[in-house]
Amino acid sequence: MNFTVRIIGDPILRKTTKDIEKFDDSLKELIQDMFDEMYKSDGVGLAAPQVGISRSFFVMDDGIEKRAVINPKILNFSEEEIIYEEGCLSIPEIFAEISRPRKISVEYQNPEGKKIKEDLDEYTARIFQHEFDHLKGRLFTDKLSVVSKARIKKDLLKLNKEGQKIFKEHGELEI
Ligand SMILES: [Zn+2]
Repeated sequence: MNFTVRIIGDPILRKTTKDIEKFDDSLKELIQDMFDEMYKSDGVGLAAPQVGISRSFFVMDDGIEKRAVINPKILNFSEEEIIYEEGCLSIPEIFAEISRPRKISVEYQNPEGKKIKEDLDEYTARIFQHEFDHLKGRLFTDKLSVVSKARIKKDLLKLNKEGQKIFKEHGELEI
């Protein structure tokens, strides 16, 4: 499938996604296409809403392991937080330092539908949390202070217009 990456301003990025129920070949194909899109765009994660699909899954690659994460839950967050610079394929050219928990415990299903439980930390936990937020309609810019937001206001307004235009052209993709 040829995807159009959705940009902030697209209402799909603000929807809470629905769970995946069917673990069939078309889901596996879709996941492969999303990995391709992610690598093509030099990303480390890509969530379904970012390609116009309001369903609960994402792909990620922390440089050590590739994961296709379906119907995820975060069961535990460490109290300790760390700061990493984040960017997002849906908010091009904007980067910001964001504080989030250092460690998380997660549960999700793989493309075969098998349940997986993992403890993640550092960079891996960071990507997981960022992608997980996409499934709940949240973006990293929501976490910025009023001052930081004011600084990028102009750029965000421009992106918002672009995002709305892309939505008008492509709508929501059903799977
Ligand atoms: Zn993102």
